[in-house]
Amino acid sequence: MKTWMSHALPQLPGQMPAINLYESTQGTVLALPSGAAASLYVCGITPYDATHMGHAATYVAFDLLNRAWRDQHRTVEYVQNVTDIDDPLLERATRDGVDWRELAATQIELFQADMEALNVLPPSHYVGAVEAIEWIVPEVLQLLQAGVAYAVAGSDGEPDGDIYFSVEAASAAAQDSSLEAPWWLGQISGLNAGEMLNFFAERGGDPQRPGKRHPLDALLWRVHRDGEPSWDGGALGAGRPGWHIECTVIAQRFLPAPFTVQGGGSDLIFPHHEVGAGHAYALGGKAMARRYAHTGMVGLDGEKMSKSLGNLVIVSQLRAENVEPAAIRVAILANHYRSDWFWTRELLNEAVARLARWRAALATAPEGSAAQLLLELRQALSEDLDAPRALAALDAWAAASHAGNAAGSAADAALAADAVNALLGVELQNTPAVNG
Ligand code: ZN
Repeated sequence: MKTWMSHALPQLPGQMPAINLYESTQGTVLALPSGAAASLYVCGITPYDATHMGHAATYVAFDLLNRAWRDQHRTVEYVQNVTDIDDPLLERATRDGVDWRELAATQIELFQADMEALNVLPPSHYVGAVEAIEWIVPEVLQLLQAGVAYAVAGSDGEPDGDIYFSVEAASAAAQDSSLEAPWWLGQISGLNAGEMLNFFAERGGDPQRPGKRHPLDALLWRVHRDGEPSWDGGALGAGRPGWHIECTVIAQRFLPAPFTVQGGGSDLIFPHHEVGAGHAYALGGKAMARRYAHTGMVGLDGEKMSKSLGNLVIVSQLRAENVEPAAIRVAILANHYRSDWFWTRELLNEAVARLARWRAALATAPEGSAAQLLLELRQALSEDLDAPRALAALDAWAAASHAGNAAGSAADAALAADAVNALLGVELQNTPAVNG
């Protein structure tokens, strides 16, 4: 699938030091693996609703990692999926009386426009679930052959033949293996059985489905139902894939095994990343990713932001209100990516004011100040992507610049602007046009 446009990425002198990142499965900050290449998979949207601030914060967070790696002169392979067929998309399309394909296409276009406006570097591969079906089918068949998947008999009006991943069989098979880093249920999330069951039910799982061997067994293939779209599944019968296998197959197709970092919102740890890792291990005998990183949740004015509460802050709506996308990005960066935080008007107003101070400071940038600023930005970002600390360094630099009464250094202004652009994705010069 086509991806969005990239803004130019300035090249900076020197490079980012070694990057440390919080590892979700171990609960500690670890040095990221080094090497010439780095690979990243960030779970994409289900395109049935506009991009809200929680999505935006997640993609901006992993954009910082992408930029940090590039600043180390490494090749970055970045893959993002888009779940362009799934129950929520079909339900929304039915509710609104629109074709699901049209809904998906419209929302994907809006998402890409948001990402471009927020200056998020595009992935190297942007892959839809629908286009991945032909790759998913053989993998599901392989899981059946390996004895870690099974078909469920129909009941309560449901047809025969939905395929489920057996978490117990897969855990047991992995333990018998002589391969390193075997997967077991709970390896990624560290949750206990009760917590897993709660999250599974909350996050789209079907623990009560009759005929399943274990409540946490996850859907791999949903056979055709009347009124639902379906695709040729060969021996599986017509149907469509489950969500976890979608990400695993797309990641395995385009990235090395294991790839460097799997990212997403903290609500994806279980079951999505847990089960996806189980699929990867069962299919290839290797871990899915070497590191797992998760972003905090974004609320609104002290309340949880959710579709059910109807209090989503929509990026495209802010853009339509003439809010400069760079200010939205600064407001996001003012919060550490791992923390849960609230979107407020004050936060946005402060971001607008900061941007103006930084831009004005370019005119009086003190001679020799930009190299120190660059160093501080790199240090802050190399330590678990500490964007708030990077912004504080930028504030201090701007304050010193405003305080000086000598003529500014053009070279320092240029380097400072390039550093902020390349590392933080915030453009201080050539202010882009704002939607009206
Ligand atoms: Zn995913």
